[in-house]
Amino acid sequence: MTAQILDGRAIAADIREQVRRQVDARRAAGQDAPGLVVVLVGENPASQVYVRNKQKACQQVGFRSELLQLPADTSQARLLQLIEQLNARDDVDGILVQLPLPAQINEDLITEHITPTKDVDGFHPWNMGRLVLRQPLLRPCTPKGVMTLLACTGIDLVGKDAVIIGQSNIVGRPMLLELLMARCTVTVCHSKTQHLADKVRGADIVVAAVGVPRFVEADWVKSGAVVIDVGINRMQDGSLCGDVDTDAVAARAGWITPVPGGVGPMTVATLLQNTLLAADMHDRRS
Ligand code: NAD
Repeated sequence: MTAQILDGRAIAADIREQVRRQVDARRAAGQDAPGLVVVLVGENPASQVYVRNKQKACQQVGFRSELLQLPADTSQARLLQLIEQLNARDDVDGILVQLPLPAQINEDLITEHITPTKDVDGFHPWNMGRLVLRQPLLRPCTPKGVMTLLACTGIDLVGKDAVIIGQSNIVGRPMLLELLMARCTVTVCHSKTQHLADKVRGADIVVAAVGVPRFVEADWVKSGAVVIDVGINRMQDGSLCGDVDTDAVAARAGWITPVPGGVGPMTVATLLQNTLLAADMHDRRS
């Protein structure tokens, strides 16, 4: 078998086009374009690339977007004060504080300070809790983007066995909740998991979010499985590599996501969907 490619770039482009049309419709109805503020603290090179991609995507769909760049020595108190100002601003629908933050700032405290209905990353405990309770509003972007990719396969997810490798708050855990909500039977593996390869061998759907280049090997993967590679690893030669040994795994899998061009663009496209939803919720409240 040679896997079909789940082309995140093309699917994300379709989503951007849908969002752009909805922005046009909002404006035609006399409403503002959604407004996103991205806050970047310090000069982490990867964060700078992510923020640039998000800004570019916002411009493409006609959002109002603002980038606030703060120095690396910004105090926690200063960032909390800024968030309070953004929470209060009526022209701001979505607030995204790019992670990671410098060591002097407590990331959880910052996340919890954002008004939940403006939390377009979906990381606030209120949004996570809603996902736990199967009443999602703003959903973490990467796992939601993965669900959009899975929908594009046309495969009925109900009753499928899914294995997630990685249990982080931003990928593995919300991914568990998304797949459970889609009525998969889900196993979450992590660094202490025993017999990992055997667990992966039983899976119809594999989601790899480990942060180790080419971690998932071909003989771990069941023939025909859907393999979603969330990993983004920068190699010494500057190239990007996922958490799956893509060429080898593609010979067994039914579907596979490339890196780059798989999950990454879906994360940004889902952020746009979340910001549009936040703007709609904002309008309904005012
Ligand atoms: P993380 O470091 O927070 O979590 C990694 C997880 O992998 C942990 O839960 C850990 O227990 C598990 N793990 C580590 N070694 C393992 C092993 N030997 N066996 C089994 N499990 C093991 O990372 P994260 O933030 O969840 O990100 C994971 C990867 O996804 C990274 O490469 C990151 O760059 C990428 N990422 C991509 C996107 C995107 O938009 N495509 C978004 C977020 C993260």
